[in-house]
Amino acid sequence: MAEPKTSELMEKIVSLCKRRGFIFQSSEIYGGLNGFWDYGPLGAELKRNIKDSWWRSMIQLRDDVVGLEASIIMHPKIWEASGHTSTFSDLMVDCLLTKKRFRADQIEPQSGTAYFYTGATCSSGGKESKDPFSVLIPSPKHVEYARKVARQFYQQRGLENPALIGESSRELQSTTAYNPENGGLLTEPRPFNLMLKTYVGPVESEDNKSYLRPETAQAIFAQFKNVLETSRQKVPFGIGQIGKAFRNEINPRNFTFRSREFEQMELEFFIRPDEAIEAIYGAVAQPPAPGHPGEPQPNWGWQLWHQYWVEERIRFYENIGLPRQSLVEYWQKPEELAHYARATVDILYKFPFSKQDDKGELMGEELEGIAARSDFDLSQHQRFSGKPMMVFDEELKAAWLKLEPAKTADLFERYFEARRQYLLKAGVGAGKAEKQAREDAEALLKGSYVPHVIEPSAGVDRLALALICNAYCEDQAPDEKGKLESRLVMKFHPRIAPVKVAVFPLLKNKPELVKKAKEVRDLLRPHMRVFYDEAGAIGRRYRRQDEAGTPFGVTIDFDTLGEQGPEQKDTVTLRDRDSMKQERVKIGELGPMLIEKIR
Ligand code: ATP
Repeated sequence: MAEPKTSELMEKIVSLCKRRGFIFQSSEIYGGLNGFWDYGPLGAELKRNIKDSWWRSMIQLRDDVVGLEASIIMHPKIWEASGHTSTFSDLMVDCLLTKKRFRADQIEPQSGTAYFYTGATCSSGGKESKDPFSVLIPSPKHVEYARKVARQFYQQRGLENPALIGESSRELQSTTAYNPENGGLLTEPRPFNLMLKTYVGPVESEDNKSYLRPETAQAIFAQFKNVLETSRQKVPFGIGQIGKAFRNEINPRNFTFRSREFEQMELEFFIRPDEAIEAIYGAVAQPPAPGHPGEPQPNWGWQLWHQYWVEERIRFYENIGLPRQSLVEYWQKPEELAHYARATVDILYKFPFSKQDDKGELMGEELEGIAARSDFDLSQHQRFSGKPMMVFDEELKAAWLKLEPAKTADLFERYFEARRQYLLKAGVGAGKAEKQAREDAEALLKGSYVPHVIEPSAGVDRLALALICNAYCEDQAPDEKGKLESRLVMKFHPRIAPVKVAVFPLLKNKPELVKKAKEVRDLLRPHMRVFYDEAGAIGRRYRRQDEAGTPFGVTIDFDTLGEQGPEQKDTVTLRDRDSMKQERVKIGELGPMLIEKIR
């Protein structure tokens, strides 16, 4: 697996983002803040369009999903129930010399000669350090290099001009105990919690400690009952949310791809447990074939719902301009799955900085994960809050009356065992787990259960970056005199483009042209983001909009004013960004025509 250096393409994209006002470094005037980014005028529009598309397709165009907008800081117990307090951590190592922090699993194994020191003394006498230290050097380097690094280490411990003690050496193969950048020894791996802490109220005490949410999903679980009771939904149904999330990532990198503050778009889609489906419909529908399974059916179990959401999400990405071949559908292997997950599919985008496989193909990086999470989340909140998260299902209650006793016993047993396993894995003692699981299975026979969930969870910023990478294109366009010159164009899909149309009067010093152009601008403005520009040669104005990714350009010229005859009066030139073709369109038809293209 080759890891390409941050590619030349990526550097061009980063520079365009700054130059054109898509993305800036946060707090740039103070030297920036690692892992934080600001979106400029074009970036802000792009993000808004992404979020609007998601909200529209996942919530507004469906009967079975509703929205939520929860607070960022929530009761700390939520993070205990979700497991984030205890397990949301990466193993970290620090360089003993530079204090630079790395994720332990991201240290490349190295081989070479390690030089060990038992300590050092101050050459001028007095001070001494007995801290052991070692340095790994690849074969061609001289031992003097190791000594230099070791001396720096002891200097940092307050020894001026240190004399090294007890030097010995050993050959090491594939070790991850040393900093690949300077050969200095790393600390032992230590877990590092990724949640950002804060204090609620004036006193910075343990009792007031709280967290900025590391994901938006937990609020959905915590508000599940309120939403259910107020929205007139019943299982199966979903709750969607878009909002900020924060993770104290150890190593923010690849531009905005791994940031410390980012936005998520998450759906929790609640479904019946398979045992309930089997009781009501006799059997759970089996996936007929790979691909989209079509309109949801009442006899779908978790597998078909999961497949459905994977396909829906891929359609979403295609719909806003990411071609199918730029995406990878990665099914997590059983050993990669969280203990409660039945299946997880990651949708990856082939970013320029993605790793390459043996054939040099980009392998892709995660845009979204779609997980079948069983009834883990609601069950956890039920246990931690003591509030019931069960729903009552009239159809299920009625179904038991018609079932053979043997079938009922079989479903009871399977449900009991699934609940028992969940409780045991959650750390509940064997006896208690058995008793609780039996009560849960008895509740199922009365029509009550904790819903299972399918979770499509996507990142707004990663998607914005994918769309920017996908749009970036260098091609050729004629200049004012018709000579071909290279052109930089952002080929955003019109649905997602920050600005939909630019309106230009051919000349700025002709009041009739300016007046007409402003009329056209005002006609379109209520329906879409319009950019009005009258400065500079028309070719240069087109070029500026190409870099901003504006799909359409409208020019008001003398024909528009009727100077070339009545048939051209009130028509404009409509230029297509990608083909650069121009056509004459009646002003009256412009609005409906563009609205159709951007919807
Ligand atoms: P990764 O393995 O890349 O850290 P994850 O599997 O931890 O991601 P999830 O917890 O599943 O990510 O979060 C859902 C989505 O939120 C991700 O698919 C991604 O789009 C987004 N996301 C997660 N962490 C970050 C981050 N640090 N910066 C930007 N987006 C993020």
